[in-house]
Amino acid sequence: MLIVQKYGGTSVGDLERIQNVANRVVKSADAGHQVVVVVSAMSGETNKLLGYAEHYSKEPARAEVDMLLSSGERVTSALLSIALNEMGYKARSMSGRRAGIVTDASHTKARIENIDPEPMRKALAAGNIVVVAGFQGVNEEGEVTTLGRGGSDLSAVAIAGALEADLCEIYTDVDGIYTTDPRIEPKAKKMEKISYDEMLELASLGAKVLQNRSVEMAKKLNVNLVTRSSFSDAEGTLITKEENIMEQPVVSGIALDRNQARISLSGVIDRPGIASDIFGKLAENNINIDMIIQTLGHDGKTDMDFTVPQNELNAAKRIVDTFKNDNEIEDASVDEDICKVSIVGVGMKSHTGVAAKAFATMAKENINIMMISTSEIKISMVIEEKYAELAVRSLHSAYKLDQ
Ligand code: ADP
Ligand code: ASP
Ligand code: MG
Repeated sequence: MLIVQKYGGTSVGDLERIQNVANRVVKSADAGHQVVVVVSAMSGETNKLLGYAEHYSKEPARAEVDMLLSSGERVTSALLSIALNEMGYKARSMSGRRAGIVTDASHTKARIENIDPEPMRKALAAGNIVVVAGFQGVNEEGEVTTLGRGGSDLSAVAIAGALEADLCEIYTDVDGIYTTDPRIEPKAKKMEKISYDEMLELASLGAKVLQNRSVEMAKKLNVNLVTRSSFSDAEGTLITKEENIMEQPVVSGIALDRNQARISLSGVIDRPGIASDIFGKLAENNINIDMIIQTLGHDGKTDMDFTVPQNELNAAKRIVDTFKNDNEIEDASVDEDICKVSIVGVGMKSHTGVAAKAFATMAKENINIMMISTSEIKISMVIEEKYAELAVRSLHSAYKLDQ
């Protein structure tokens, strides 16, 4: 078999843990498999490097941020390769460039456009374990790019797709996908399987155990994706097609996103095209808007509220302020003390009362819901940040996910 194994930050968090990864990798090699390993930077390293940049500038050039951050993954890939060599195994480390990963030009959140698998294929054919630095590629100009936070998951899935690997294993510090973050709710249950669509929702709504774009790509390329622990031999969770899962629960998981902020616009001129102007400008600047609420107008004015990721708040605020300066809106205020809790499940499609139960659960805990959005398979609510964990735990028990 050809297996892609990805090891996250905690799994390569220090020199001993990198040795532990080497020991795991050689087990697969000894079993006769071809192995491509994708590694993250040591845990904390990416944030540390970002902090260094911020020492000089609040908004460093994004191309420079990419040069800086991509170094973290190069360190671990070389160290793992050295450890494997020392154990008597042939191994080659590769940067994103060497591994043929070409992305678009949007620095710090680049999209993979294409992978030339030849260098990896050749190294594998020569009997090497290939160790790829995750989270990075190069654009058409040859500049280094990175794939967004958590992007090593995406590197692994994309490489598995390009090499037509039999299996892509994501090794992390939990032994699978749980009904909610087990660090918030210790009663959370591990799932044996979860559908791509549900996993995509959970990941997009804050469950950082897998980067959302990696799940999207796994679905598109039909990659056999398994999440497992690098610290135990426990069976992991298989992320697979919906039809491979016999029993679909109505609700399969609860996600929490703390990285959200709300922008409230009041006294917005009520004219056709105003929403398109404001949100068009935000989109042009690559800002991810999530929930939007517009309240009924009066006196030719309306109010609009929307959410953005916290790290895009300043840029978003600058843009809406230009509308304020043009007298198209009266005021723009921000609220960072919010979070978003979401309930996800494909079974919702065919069940009623799922949303009502979520609202009743919030009411019982006296938690005020500020915004709501729903789709076929999810319900999201924006609430005060201080109620985040309480909300997750009470929803988890209301939908009997602990049973
Ligand atoms: P890595 O560094 O290996 O990429 P991450 O920190 O990105 O690991 O992701 C693993 C973490 O995801 C876990 O430690 C856990 O706290 C968190 N997590 C959030 N939601 C879930 C969930 N539903 N199931 C499992 N883990 C979850
Ligand atoms: N090191 C990067 C991050 O911390 C990428 C990753 O770990 O997947 O976001
Ligand atoms: Mg991660």
